[in-house]
Amino acid sequence: MALASLRVPSFAKINLGLEVLGLRQDGYHELRTIFQTVNLKDDIVLRRKRSSGITVECDHPDVPTDERNLAFKAAWELARRADIKGGLAIQIEKRIPVAGGMGGGSSNAAAVLLGLDRMWGLGLGPAGLHPIARSLGADVPYFLVGGTALGLARGDEVFPLWRQIAAQVVIVDPQRPVSTAAVFRRIDARLTPRENSNTIFRFVSRDLEGGWAFSVLSNDLEEAALEEAPDLAAKVKRIRRVLAREGAMLASLSGSGSTYFGLFDDPIRARRAREGLAAEGFDARTARTLSHGQYRTAWSRWASPGRARVRTR
Ligand code: ATP
Repeated sequence: MALASLRVPSFAKINLGLEVLGLRQDGYHELRTIFQTVNLKDDIVLRRKRSSGITVECDHPDVPTDERNLAFKAAWELARRADIKGGLAIQIEKRIPVAGGMGGGSSNAAAVLLGLDRMWGLGLGPAGLHPIARSLGADVPYFLVGGTALGLARGDEVFPLWRQIAAQVVIVDPQRPVSTAAVFRRIDARLTPRENSNTIFRFVSRDLEGGWAFSVLSNDLEEAALEEAPDLAAKVKRIRRVLAREGAMLASLSGSGSTYFGLFDDPIRARRAREGLAAEGFDARTARTLSHGQYRTAWSRWASPGRARVRTR
């Protein structure tokens, strides 16, 4: 059944460890990372419109609303491949920090693909949407799956882990944007190919044994990002102090930053960490991880024709 409008969730991710192994022939970096969805999300409304073309509205001033928007690109590409004519309005309510290493644009793109697949009754599913997702950006395929997942190659080869992490996350936006390109330029200047690095695989094998080895994880981009922005480094020192004091299992930059996060198994400690960071003047919030199953459930709950938010024609 084709729908006239649909409201879909677009969740953020954090990277639990990120290894940069080398530069590929195609110019991208060879990565290994553990992706993790958190329940911080943007909301996206997709609405069929009478006039032709795709329009994007977003309540965040730093997000482009023309054809540079990843949600626009996703809709345009899916409409082209599925030969869908007619207009579409996309409305994005932003809550994920923009350019913060939490994958906001990539998540929006995947959410539009999954939402339009349902709205237009295409029946492609994540597997059928994967080639388009991949063409839009390296992080987009992950958001077709969600939960705790291993990302290989450009980060676009995604494998859900057998055990899914259930934890509290304290997310800090240091309000100091860092250019992803500049961080990678610094990495390139010192990169020695190291295919044999195995910290992510050590983490995954501990998972199979029934334990978590957060202490082996680190983000290879963190040092370069902090060198790129010495004022961010000073803030991160203070953030890490509070997260460590409250017993974070892992404290790290997400992606190329500048969002910083702490992972906690205890909600009370997480709350205390958020309060401690707020007392020091930081923009901090608590969230929790979403498993692959919870991600799917959130999707079916939000994007189902039975919800009052959804109108059928
Ligand atoms: P990356 O690590 O890929 O740079 P990020 O998670 O750090 O991503 P995003 O929030 O995805 O950051 O934004 C990166 C840039 O992409 C923004 O500066 C913005 O101009 C552009 N952009 C395009 N489409 C979107 C979108 N739908 N939401 C947010 N940003 C978008």
